[in-house]
Amino acid sequence: MNTLVEIEEDSFRDNFAAVDNETGKRNWFYPQKPTGKWHNRRVVTTIIQLAIMFGLPFFKVNGQPLFLFNVLERKFIIFGIFIGPQDYWLFGLMMITFFVFIVVFTTVFGRVWCGWACPQTVFMEMVFRKIEYAIEGDWRAQRALDKADWTGEKVAKKSLKWLIFLVVSFMIANLLLSYFVGIDGLQKIIVEPISEHLALFIGICAFTIIFFFNFAWLRDQACTVVCPYGRLQGILLDKNSSVISYDYKRGEPREKLRKGAERTAGDCINCFQCVNVCPTGIDIRNGTQMECVSCTACIDACDNIMDKVGLPKGLIRYDSENNIANGVAKRITTRTVAYAAVLIALWSVLGFILITRDDTETTLLRVPGSRYVENADGSVSNLYTFKLFNKTNSVIEPEMRLESPKGALKFAGVPNLTLAGASMVEGSVFITLPKSELKGRRTELQMGIYANGQRLESFKTTFLAPEE
Ligand code: SF4
Ligand code: SF4
Repeated sequence: MNTLVEIEEDSFRDNFAAVDNETGKRNWFYPQKPTGKWHNRRVVTTIIQLAIMFGLPFFKVNGQPLFLFNVLERKFIIFGIFIGPQDYWLFGLMMITFFVFIVVFTTVFGRVWCGWACPQTVFMEMVFRKIEYAIEGDWRAQRALDKADWTGEKVAKKSLKWLIFLVVSFMIANLLLSYFVGIDGLQKIIVEPISEHLALFIGICAFTIIFFFNFAWLRDQACTVVCPYGRLQGILLDKNSSVISYDYKRGEPREKLRKGAERTAGDCINCFQCVNVCPTGIDIRNGTQMECVSCTACIDACDNIMDKVGLPKGLIRYDSENNIANGVAKRITTRTVAYAAVLIALWSVLGFILITRDDTETTLLRVPGSRYVENADGSVSNLYTFKLFNKTNSVIEPEMRLESPKGALKFAGVPNLTLAGASMVEGSVFITLPKSELKGRRTELQMGIYANGQRLESFKTTFLAPEE
């Protein structure tokens, strides 16, 4: 059973920082502007990330985008690999592999994704928040402005901020759409009359409003209330995961700094700078919490204070609970090895499938209920139906061939087999074998699909003939 002290120590877990416990209303956070080494690193990675995010849609390989997520037409391109409607399982496998990768990564490195790569945090903290600081000033000025009456200055500042938020939200909505319809599709929507792309135009407007609402109002609650990833930390992290941690062994007991007095307490001077900068309003000194988005602002804030008071930096740092408590830095545990083994197995399977994947997928089946036709010259014919999928995003002109034994194909009702990207053709075909090629009641046929003289796919089917 917990002792009273333990219960009191853990009481912060009963409160959700974003909600006022007494009124039940939302706590609106005004995080102090972060400065320091880690913030500078985040600025650099943000610039690189935004350049990649906005640049990728323009990047093409063999005329195809590197990434496309066309949900409406069920076409996806991931790292240049086209996945059409018939390959959903492959898309599913890629997603599973990606999630296992996130799990392995989180187990070892904590929530690095949230602070450094997640578009929500990157846009919120490194774009929208910066616009806010530039227009409304640092946290105290923002809070004063919100409390102030609606003067001309307040109206001007708020209008300017929301206008810029709206423009940036519109840009993000366009960016998102370029991943859905490709950059060419987006250019069409921009250049051609709106009436021709009304649905997509409404989509852009809707997403602009959603992004504006998210970054102007929802903010930290997108991470702490909406996103499920934070809630998974309890099962993904363990005592060896490297997370943003407060070194309580060094920091406790906390005590305010008193000039001239000899310091007997821990290194934490209880200045609350780490809390003031936190965009999710938590106190990292309470330990790893679901709300922490790993933004590193508290590391910088504390390092700046340590610098000022002449104590060593790193009271808050990336570290594991095990290292802080016991001085054991152990990154690779049985759990991470097991997760990594699953990940390597998934990568291997995925790699094998992608390397051996054919450009077409054909099913060729004898017409149900039909047997065979004996021709006057002794040859025998079977009637088949076929479905031929083009699994690429380019036009191909496939040719179906009987590779062995020798025989003839006669298509019924299919004028040509020109196939647009990610499309399918179906039809019927008679296959005729001379008597000399028959091997009893069942003969195995080796079939091939060719285009431009190259075999794209090979498969087998059976051929029925009368008993000798
Ligand atoms: S606790 Fe630190 S790292 Fe976590 S969200 Fe707050 S400021 Fe960012
Ligand atoms: S910034 Fe550092 S010294 Fe100040 S309260 Fe936080 S942990 Fe303690």
